[in-house]
Amino acid sequence: MGKRYFCDYCQRSFVDDIVSRKKHLSGVLHIRQKKEYYALNRDLRTLIAEEREKELCRRYRFQGDCPFGLQCAYTHYSEEELASFERIVREEDEKRSRLPSIKEWLTKKANNQRKANLLDNIPPNVFATSQDLTLPPSLRFPTLEQMQSFTPSEWG
Ligand SMILES: [Zn+2]
Ligand SMILES: [Zn+2]
Repeated sequence: MGKRYFCDYCQRSFVDDIVSRKKHLSGVLHIRQKKEYYALNRDLRTLIAEEREKELCRRYRFQGDCPFGLQCAYTHYSEEELASFERIVREEDEKRSRLPSIKEWLTKKANNQRKANLLDNIPPNVFATSQDLTLPPSLRFPTLEQMQSFTPSEWG
């Protein structure tokens, strides 16, 4: 059996030769699938910007269905839906701007610890817990290097 080419957009495979591939990639169905794929996968920001440009699709609003689907020149999103998307984007922005980097967070922690240590008149020891070798490794505070090289796998 010859090699087969699997088209991710169309979710189907065919014999992989130049003629079939060319025919498939220039086919109406493939082009439409590809366009729909991008339409479904564009990020929320792009979606909002693009849909805001369009007028409401009356057919979709009043008949609940529109034969043009994602190819429709009018938007199938209601004002409420777009507004809720905008809210999500705003919340994401706020969360991102609030979240300090690991480095900032560690610096802050170190400063707080230094302040606490100064109050107690103990020499400042930035990462006291990480150096507490009497603790088992899993209970020691991770170092900056460990934190930065940490790649989370899956939960559970
Ligand atoms: Zn295809
Ligand atoms: Zn429509």
